[in-house]
Parts: sequence; structure tokens; C-alpha cells
Amino acid sequence: MPETKVSDMGQLVVIALGGNAIADREQVRAEQQEERVRRTAQAIVEIVAEGYRVCLAHGNGPQVGTIFLQQRAADSDRTPAMPLDVCGAMSQGMIGYWLQQALQESLGRRGLRMPCATVVTQTLVDPGDPAFQAPTKPIGPFYPREEAEILARESGYAFREDAGRGYRRVVPSPLPVEILELPPVRQLLEAGCLVIAAGGGGIPVLRAPGSDRCQGVEAVVDKDRAAAKLADQLEADLLLILTSVPAAAIRYGQTDQRDLGEVSSDELARYIRQGEFAPGSMLPKVEACIAFVRGRQGRRAAIATIEDAVAALHGLKGTQVQA
Ligand code: ADP
Ligand code: MG
Repeated sequence: MPETKVSDMGQLVVIALGGNAIADREQVRAEQQEERVRRTAQAIVEIVAEGYRVCLAHGNGPQVGTIFLQQRAADSDRTPAMPLDVCGAMSQGMIGYWLQQALQESLGRRGLRMPCATVVTQTLVDPGDPAFQAPTKPIGPFYPREEAEILARESGYAFREDAGRGYRRVVPSPLPVEILELPPVRQLLEAGCLVIAAGGGGIPVLRAPGSDRCQGVEAVVDKDRAAAKLADQLEADLLLILTSVPAAAIRYGQTDQRDLGEVSSDELARYIRQGEFAPGSMLPKVEACIAFVRGRQGRRAAIATIEDAVAALHGLKGTQVQA
């Protein structure tokens, strides 16, 4: 029997799910998150029904923040708190489990048969990445100033004031160098699986020089950048970033805001230089799209809402980026 390759089986789309695909800011109980994931799964299954191969990536900010706090709350000799990289692995398993159940249910309802699997994913980062000198990514809860100062002294963590809401721990956000579980992700896709990978940007790890030994680091890789890296390494046809706004916009939030439709990577790069996209939210999405479409000819990337996902795949809604 001839070997079947991912490329022979319909277009491959890597979908990056934003935080609002999994949890509402106020609704964080397990059953509430499961309900939200169920709605998201329906949209993903619509894409599967169109004949696309799907690899899902997702955010984990609120979930990993909660797990981290639960660890601290239970901290004792008998139940020691786990470090951030291990909390990242826990969040990948938890969200992957919810997605697998919800996807199976939605697939079944549509009369589709397809195995779904989550791959615990490590993302290799560079110890020389300048991000390690300047932590920027807020994680976990807000603290009053005095409490943050005590925690900083006791733990050595860095804290920063976050938009007038209090102090939060900040960790470095290095760039993804390589998705280490690429081979199993590819094999699962080739076997016809719907794959969930690189959750929360993947667990950031460093590799000891001249060895295969990897070690987790206290950092967070941006999930949109990790999804773009995964899409690039998988040689996907499309990168679809699903979030809470229908498009990337210029003059965002102002009376003359303009949502971007079809746009070239050069035009987007110009808007970046003009400071149109907020760092930490829209900027990494736009940068991820540019990096992906410039990686090889014929690629397309889009930013849209979950409701518009299928239309965005067809180029009809959202911000549509081509080289
Ligand atoms: P996700 O969880 O999907 O990654 P983020 O909150 O990180 O979501 O990013 C989406 C947010 O980016 C939007 O809710 C919007 O408030 C914000 N944003 C900042 N700048 C822009 C812009 N130029 N155009 C559109 N949205 C923007
Ligand atoms: Mg984000």
C-alpha cells in the first residue's frame, strides 16, 4: 500500500485557540470551562467536516495561573509545590482532556469518526534569548504592593505593576526555537488523528550543550508564536488564530478604528512599526502570521473569532494575511 502523507490528505491547518475559547474570565469552574470548550469544539469539527486536517494549539494563561496557586496553597513536605514548567505540563493535560472529550462528542454527533490525541509538548528556547534579562509576561493573581515586595524577597520572583490593577509576577517570554515533539505530532496527523499540541506555547525547555538532556525553565512561550513555529515545522498550509476580536485593527479602540481584511505581510510590518498592535495581545498574533506566511510560498494566515472560523478559512472573514 502506498504511504499516505499529511500533504496527500487535504490541507493542513494549525489553529491557535485564544483564552476565551476555553474559559470566560469569570467562569473558571471545571464544568464552566468544559461547557465553553464544547462550544469551541463544534467550530473545530465544522472545519474537520470541510475536509481539513487539523492540529490545535491553545493558550493556558488562566489555567496555569490557577494550578500554580493551588500548588502554593497546598505546599508542605508531603505535598510540595510543583515548579512552573510542571504546572504547564498539568495544564496541557487538563485542557487536552477537555478538548478530546468535547471533540469526540461533536465528531460523533456529525457522524464523523476520527481519533483525537493530545501531545505533551516541549518548546526549545535559547538561553541567550534577551527575554531572560527582561521578564515581561504576567502570570497568576494580582497582589497589593506590600505583599508583592515580601513575596519578591522570599521567592526571588520578579513582580510588576499591571495596568493599575495591582502587582503580578512576571516571567520571561523567550521566542520558540523548535517544537521538540514535532515527529510524534506529524506521525499522529499522518495517521489521521486530530492533534492537540503546543498548549500554552509548549513547556519552555533548555538543552544542555552537546547532550539530549532538556530542563524546564521558569518562562512562558507566547502561544501564537509557538503555533506559528509548529505550523512552519509541519509545513502547514494555513495558520488560523482564533481570538476575541473579529480582526486585527488599526487605530484600535478609537472612533476611526479600521478592521484589517486582506493584507500583505509588508503592510502589516509597517503597521507594527507604527505601533498599531498592543504587545502581549495583538502584536504576537500579527508577528506570528507574518513569520508563517514568509516561511514558504503559498501560505495563508488569518485572525478571526471562533464564530467566523469556517468563513475565515475560506478567506471571507477576519484579517487575511498573505506574503
Ligand atoms: P488571546 O487569548 O486570544 O490570545 P488576547 O487578549 O491576548 O487574546 O488578544 C486579543 C486582544 O487584543 C483583543 O481582545 C483586543 O482587545 C486586543 N488588541 C490590542 N490591539 C489590537 C488591535 N490593533 N486590533 C485588534 N485587537 C487588539
Ligand atoms: Mg494572547
